[in-house]
Amino acid sequence: MTQSDVICVRCGKEPAKRAESGVPTCDNCERLLQASLKAKSEESRNCPVHSTEMTKEIVLNIVVDRCPSCQGIWLDGGELDLLKKAIKAGMSDDFARAMLLPW
Ligand SMILES: [Zn+2]
Ligand SMILES: [Zn+2]
Repeated sequence: MTQSDVICVRCGKEPAKRAESGVPTCDNCERLLQASLKAKSEESRNCPVHSTEMTKEIVLNIVVDRCPSCQGIWLDGGELDLLKKAIKAGMSDDFARAMLLPW
C-alpha cells in the first residue's frame, strides 16, 4: 500500500472512491450506509435530557441523531470510532463544517 492509495475510512480495507460527503468509502460500505440510513429513518430516538425527538443528520457518512433543543448528538456504538478514523484521514474541515451546519 502506498500513501496515495485512498482506503475506505469505514472498513479500512477496501480501496475507496470519494463519496459525495467527501469521505472515502468503498462500494460495499456505501451500500451498508444506505441500508442503515434507511433503517434509521424509520426508528426515531429521544434526547436523554429533553425527551425531545431527535433529528437525523449525516456527519462524515455517519448517521447521527441531534436534539433540536440542546443540539446534543447521539452516536450509536462504534460511530465515534468511525468519526475518529475520518478525522485521522484528514477530514477535519469537513467534520467541522458538518457539525456546524444542519444537514
Ligand atoms: Zn469499506
Ligand atoms: Zn436535548
